[in-house]
Amino acid sequence: MKKALIIIVSAALAVSASAQEYIFNRHPLMPTSFTELPIGAIKAEGWLHDQLVKQKDGMTGHLDELYSEVVGADNAWIGGEGDTWERGPYWLDGLLPLAYILGDEELIAKSRVWTESMLTMVYDDGYFGNRISRKYIEGFQRGKAEDWWPKMVALKILKQYYMATGDQRVIDVMTGYFKYQLANLPQKPLDHWTFWGEWRGGDNLDMVYWLYNITGEEFLLELGDLIHSQTTPWTAMFWGETNELRTQNSMHTVNLAHGFKEPIIWWQRSHDPKDLNAPENALKIIRHTFGLPTGLWAGDEQVHFGDPTRGSELCTAVEMMYSLEEMLQATGDLQWADHLERVAFNALPTQATDAYDGRQYYQQTNQIACSREWRNFVTQHEDNDNVFGVLNGYPCCSCNMHQGWPKFTQNLWYASKDGGLAAFIYAPSTVTAKVGEGTEVSLKQETFYPFDETVKVTVDFTGKKVKDAYFPLYFRIPEWCSNARVLVNGEEGCSSPMAGETVRLSRRWAKGDVVTLEFPMEVSISHWYDGATVVERGPLIYSLKMDEKWEKHEFEASYEGKYGPYYYTCVSDTPWNYGFRLQDMTPEKMSENFKVEIRPDEGTYPWNLENAPVSIKAKAVIIKPWKEYNGSTGQIAYYREDGDDTGEEVWIELIPYGCTTLRVTEFPTRL
Ligand SMILES: [Zn+2]
Repeated sequence: MKKALIIIVSAALAVSASAQEYIFNRHPLMPTSFTELPIGAIKAEGWLHDQLVKQKDGMTGHLDELYSEVVGADNAWIGGEGDTWERGPYWLDGLLPLAYILGDEELIAKSRVWTESMLTMVYDDGYFGNRISRKYIEGFQRGKAEDWWPKMVALKILKQYYMATGDQRVIDVMTGYFKYQLANLPQKPLDHWTFWGEWRGGDNLDMVYWLYNITGEEFLLELGDLIHSQTTPWTAMFWGETNELRTQNSMHTVNLAHGFKEPIIWWQRSHDPKDLNAPENALKIIRHTFGLPTGLWAGDEQVHFGDPTRGSELCTAVEMMYSLEEMLQATGDLQWADHLERVAFNALPTQATDAYDGRQYYQQTNQIACSREWRNFVTQHEDNDNVFGVLNGYPCCSCNMHQGWPKFTQNLWYASKDGGLAAFIYAPSTVTAKVGEGTEVSLKQETFYPFDETVKVTVDFTGKKVKDAYFPLYFRIPEWCSNARVLVNGEEGCSSPMAGETVRLSRRWAKGDVVTLEFPMEVSISHWYDGATVVERGPLIYSLKMDEKWEKHEFEASYEGKYGPYYYTCVSDTPWNYGFRLQDMTPEKMSENFKVEIRPDEGTYPWNLENAPVSIKAKAVIIKPWKEYNGSTGQIAYYREDGDDTGEEVWIELIPYGCTTLRVTEFPTRL
């Protein structure tokens, strides 16, 4: 159903005057119906704006001070003799969109040091950036300067800089570099310096097609074919032709997040449905192997079967979000929007402190203590992987985490090829863009989604004399929502919208018109690792609410250089050994045994224990033998069909996963 509708929509879209302002796919790439707006056109509001300001005041705005040795003035990307590899570009990949979305002059100035350097450190053969490898010093990545992989991050930065400023030098530098790639990749393929380039070639390919859509130069298609041929064969893997998705330790967790988009990026060129549908098939396999209810998978750093005490690296969350955003733009397929919200609203908010001055390297789905302890992770960084600090665990995430929320903001609204605008994911925001025959419209999206069920969009025009204009608006009906309503000025705007459907409202919109989307959320149950029970409602999953005792510490002298100056622990005395009985979760008993309470939006930051906007009182049972083991929930049968290990019945409180630091999310299931 969903696919059929999308194809009809894309075939029907004629190119409007306003759409010529935006970058859509050029022949022979698969036609796109929706595309990204310039950076700065979308402004975050409400809780999302608070989130971005926290990043500015926290690690994103200050990483050059907190981690000055690596991303400070001596970084080789800005002319120094220090780090030359991924970490500087990682930081910029989030700092730059944050700076331009907030319109913050100080952050823009900070990012300009890097973009100016990238645009001027250019060689005659087209290479850009530092190319001098230096000898190894602990804590730095100074060798392999010419590796393809960190350039892939730099290309994403240049693209975003262009999307924010329109600076034509970006087009020249990228064109030159892609000519350099075409000349050199045959002798020095993507895995020539490190294997990361081979796994992450989809990021490179994506930027080649972005430039092709602007310049139309044929050599870029040839380069794209070459890059794809040297990239890990993700389509075959995702169809199960090779066994990585069913084999523990078969790959690095972050590479899987990068690779997710590659078949769809390539499909734009191949037009092969096998490429288009490969990621969907991968999710079907992963659901029964590595999958976690957060939309991610167990990977600390190698992938594992999804035991809820396994780690999930922060880089995986932000890279998977970026992949899903690119997949959504390329296809307009709403399953990627649903999946994007699942990662953004569950996994992402929990992995950094409220002040954004610390982050975890690994989060656990069942996480009863964030403490110094050796846990069951395959890649251990001594005992500090799940505390919150600047560099604990490993520093990649400290640099890469910043792209999550700014890019999410950038994907809240797309231009449509027929001169309209589309909202496929929801959060409080304002968009200003050209529609119809070139009229500038400003749409305000007011909502407390994902906690609240209502999204209200109000139409306004920036021109004082403009009173109305004809253009279409597109909205996503979430896959989980079976009884949505779409109202225009209080009246039904669309009869019985279907779950997972794109709604198109094409009409003459007047200043002050209001679209109201109602997405009733119901409590539902899903089963994960070993049959464990997970409670869901709308785009959110729910976890046991536990008291949190936070404490700030300094690392001992022997750890400080490696793991940063400080870290926070978070522990609790709250009992957590609960499970659910299948007999209490039948459809007839759900409303009796899972009682939802919603707090109205009071303007407070929602992603913490104190302000959690939704609470579910749930009927559970004590699981008597379930005990703590080395700082995690001990091993247990998550599903048991015989032998009663349950104790008394109790009522427990669940809150959104994204509001918790300590939690049980995957509960043992009993009869
Ligand atoms: Zn990382």
